[in-house]
This record gives sequence, structure tokens and C-alpha cells, in this order.
Amino acid sequence: MPTMTQPQPPIFVTEPHLPPLEEFLPYLERIWASKRITNSGPFHHQLEAQLAAYLGVDHLSLFANGTLALVTALQALRIGGEVITTPYTFAATAHSLLWNNIKPVFVDIDPDTCNLDPERIEEAITPATTAILPVHCYGIPCDVERIQQIADTYGLKVIYDAAHAFGVKKGGQSILRHGDLAILSFHATKVFNTFEGGAIVCPDAKIKQRIDYLKNFGFADEVTVVAPGINGKMNEVSAAMGLLQLKHIDQALDNRAAIYRRYQQAFSGCETLRVLEAPADLDWNHAYCPLFVQADHPVSRDGLYERLKAHNIHARRYFYPLISSFPMYRGLPSAASRLLPNATRIAEQVICLPIYPSLSTDDQERLIDIVLQTAQ
Ligand SMILES: *Cc1c(COP(=O)(O)O)cnc(C)c1O
Repeated sequence: MPTMTQPQPPIFVTEPHLPPLEEFLPYLERIWASKRITNSGPFHHQLEAQLAAYLGVDHLSLFANGTLALVTALQALRIGGEVITTPYTFAATAHSLLWNNIKPVFVDIDPDTCNLDPERIEEAITPATTAILPVHCYGIPCDVERIQQIADTYGLKVIYDAAHAFGVKKGGQSILRHGDLAILSFHATKVFNTFEGGAIVCPDAKIKQRIDYLKNFGFADEVTVVAPGINGKMNEVSAAMGLLQLKHIDQALDNRAAIYRRYQQAFSGCETLRVLEAPADLDWNHAYCPLFVQADHPVSRDGLYERLKAHNIHARRYFYPLISSFPMYRGLPSAASRLLPNATRIAEQVICLPIYPSLSTDDQERLIDIVLQTAQ
């Protein structure tokens, strides 16, 4: 019989984590019975309480997505003028500034952590600076102590884009407790999803109250509108999904850790491929598996990307191109690539490999073989 190579089914960089459908149906039945589908319903309340407890934070306010959470966090603290941020992140980080008429000021990253380099922040501060918007990139914490010290010295607010940092703990403490506010994303591609969703983590009940007004058009009660708020509310179907996800999250995180360890072991002998190393005292979430293809690797990063694609494996170059090179940012003085040498280099080296709880060992081994073949 002639051997025919079957086309392999595609493998994507991630796959949404979906609990068994039959476990979701009872939630839907309750929604249908109560006819409460949005506007701070019972599942919304339960999810806010259960998530705060799970994450180890005092308060959080649920949102329809992470981008609306970011835009609203900036509104809640009345941030304006200039905000210092990283170019090495997803588009939403900087876009949330433009949606608030704020000028982004890009500062280079530390190439080891891929996070904002605190040593470069002070030189970017001007009289117009009001806040710092760092990202815990790939779920690896920023240097939160140093950043807070700078913020205190110069009287700046700090809002963390913690879209990647669900469940991350350092020294047993949630990384989400740092900054004036921190935002989460529960998008389908994230570690924890509510189809679409997000949250603002708040240090006290007063700021949560104001954020709750802002996400509901600014309504404080039936007849009082206290701010030009937006519609950022999470609906009951998404909140129900969150409650169900929470029951499965620990297993999902364990699976991710095991997959990450296999990648780490596979590439440990290859000097021209660097895998991101998490600090020792970190409870990490293994949200991503970035691989940094060094200049002396026999195949370029884009060559590896194409090689995988030819095998129907769709890795992603997170984060390439840099935000600072997008048309709406590239004219800014801080966007020049000579000022962002680390971010520019890392963006040229990075390729994020598939990692999600249901990735099979067979698929992962096949993928590893293709990557290792480029080392010969
Ligand atoms: C996913 C993501 C966002 C946006 O979240 P959405 O829920 O998709 O709106 C913001 N910042 C970063 C760093 C992200 O990865």
C-alpha cells in the first residue's frame, strides 16, 4: 500500500480551556429561570467574591474585557498627560492610553525578564508624567518594589497591566496586590477565560465603588450619574463560565507547568535557544512559553516560525512587531528603536510555542523535534 502522509491537524499557540459542557448547562438553566442576564446579577456577585478569595486580593470589579478594564482604570484615577509604559506588550496596553488622550512614553525592557527596566524609568519622567503602566509580561512579575519607590518619590500612580499574571504569587503573596490598580484579562487565549472578560483589582472598597459606577455609565443610583462612564459590565453567562473555570483552574495550571517543564528539558542542551526562566520564589502560571532564538542559531526566528507553519503548527511572535513601531506611535520621540535596544532585539528573537492544558505529549514531542532539527 502506498504510504500517504496525512495532513496533521493544526496546533495553535493556545486553545481556550473549556470545562465539560454538561457542567455548564445547570448554570444556563438558572440564568434562563431567573431572567437575570446582566447588570450585576447573582453569578457576577459570586464570581467577584470567589475570584478575590482565589487570587488572594481584597476587592475586584469584573469587566466585559481587559481593554475596557484598562481604559476605566485610567479614568478612575484621573490619569492624564504622559504615562510611562513598555513597548513590549499587546496593543491594548498603549491603546488604552490613546483612548484616554494620554501620551505614551516608551521605556526599554530588561532583556532577562522582558519587563520595563526600572533603571530607565526616571530619565523618562517629565513635569507632565502622571503614572507608570507596566506589564507583568508572560506573567513574570515586574520589579514592583523599585517601581513603587520611583512612583512614591515622584508622586506618580502605578497601574499594572496584569493580563498575563492570573494567579501568580511571589513569596506566597499575590502579585496583583501591587500598584494603585491592576487589571486582568479573561480573554479566550488567557490562562483563565470567561469567553471574554476582565477585571480591575482594587486595594479598597471605595475605589471599587467608583469603578463600579464607571463601568455602568457612571450611574451611582437610579437618578444620579457621577461620571461619563462606559458600558464595561460582565454579563451573567460569562460570570457563570468564570465560576465553572475556577473549579478546574488548579488542574489546568498543573498541566501547563508539566508542558513547560518538558520544553525546558528539551531545549536545555541547546545554547542558541533560550527558554524564559522564572525566578525561584515564584508561583508562576506558565501562561506562555517564549523561546528566544539567538543570533547564532543555524535557523533564524522567522525561519523556525515558517518551518513550524509548514507542519501546521502555528506559533506566534509575541511581541513582534513592537507597539512603538505601529503607525499611531512611531512618531513619538520615545518610540525610536535606538532608545529601545533590548525590546527591539527581544522582539526579533521571540517565538511563543504552543502551551495549553490539553496539548498532548505526542504533539508536543513532534513539535520539539521540529525545533531541535533547526539546531543541527
Ligand atoms: C490580552 C491582553 C490585554 C487585553 O485584554 P482583552 O481582554 O483581550 O481586552 C491587555 N494587555 C495585555 C498585555 C494582554 O495580553
